[in-house]
Amino acid sequence: MNMEKKDIKSLTLPQLEEELAARGEKKFRAAQMYDWMHVKLARGFEEMTNLPGSLRERCKKEYFYTSLRAVNVQESKIDGTRKFLLELPDGNLVESVWMKYKHGNSVCISSQVGCRMGCRFCASTLDGLERNLLPSEMLDQVYAITLLTGERVSNVVVMGTGEPLDNYDNLMVFLRMLTDENGLHISQRNVTVSTCGLVPQMRRLAEEKLQITLALSLHAATDEKRRRIMPIADRYSVAELMEACRYYFERTGRRITLEYSLAEGVNDGDEDAAQLARLAKPLRCHVNLIPVNPVKECDFARAQAPRIRAFQNILEKNEINGTIRREMGRDIDGACGQLRRKRMSGQRDIGGNEAC
Ligand code: SAH
Repeated sequence: MNMEKKDIKSLTLPQLEEELAARGEKKFRAAQMYDWMHVKLARGFEEMTNLPGSLRERCKKEYFYTSLRAVNVQESKIDGTRKFLLELPDGNLVESVWMKYKHGNSVCISSQVGCRMGCRFCASTLDGLERNLLPSEMLDQVYAITLLTGERVSNVVVMGTGEPLDNYDNLMVFLRMLTDENGLHISQRNVTVSTCGLVPQMRRLAEEKLQITLALSLHAATDEKRRRIMPIADRYSVAELMEACRYYFERTGRRITLEYSLAEGVNDGDEDAAQLARLAKPLRCHVNLIPVNPVKECDFARAQAPRIRAFQNILEKNEINGTIRREMGRDIDGACGQLRRKRMSGQRDIGGNEAC
């Protein structure tokens, strides 16, 4: 990627107007171009046929235009879930997942190349952080998948590789552009950002006046246990996290989702469930139970199905709404981050491989 060129797809409409005005272009050109990029999902300036050829040529020379390419697609035979391995302009790869639900299509996007949070059961963090994704690179995961599936996306979850709140500024631009009425205009209520719990950023997010859902990856209800699973627990205590959740709920009126990945013999006991219920209850949190997806390099095993149900029952008895996450695309690959790792290490991908 030529870093000297401005990344045009990361500019908001007012920024684009300013940019083109400085080049002597009329204001409506910016609106036209924004529409091509963020509504018509053009793959390049050459597609923008109602713009003068001279303007297109100039833009081509002066701006960088992000457009991700799918290098591998796997489709689940069970539920139609598709996992896309997308190539970034600099050759790095990210994973995004497309899921079909009754209420609409959902895309799970990555926010960074790699991750530096070090959660012990997660494949995305094994090689550390490579770099942050630009707003355009987050947007284009949604755009590329919309084009490839030919279907409208109604929900976006930032739950792929990376810690979104560790890429805060780019995430904010992305969220505003994704939900902008001049762009795809995805409802803020249909957007979820998942964090391992960066307390200062959670508080900052509460001030942004967004109606998105914040999901907190808790995974353990005590500091001692959480520290065994997630290094970030050394920085912020469960008490501080719950205080930040309370603040978020207060400021936005949006209920927090707690994510809890269940690992056999680690955090799946009755006492764990009771402690989790105690935390979730005052905030009326929704709890998402995720059976751990075993990763070769990590020694966490998936909790047994009867154990998961017992865990859920305890939550229910405490009037906590806990759902066991449907395991979408169980047959196509393991946990997030695995597809990319496999590809990078040159191993053969399993499952379908309709490369495009
Ligand atoms: N960094 C963010 C978002 C990425 S991960 C976060 O921590 O929330 C999305 C969710 O999947 C997190 O709850 C994460 O802890 C969980 N996860 C990652 N690897 C997993 C695995 N192998 N099994 C089960 N859940 C996993």
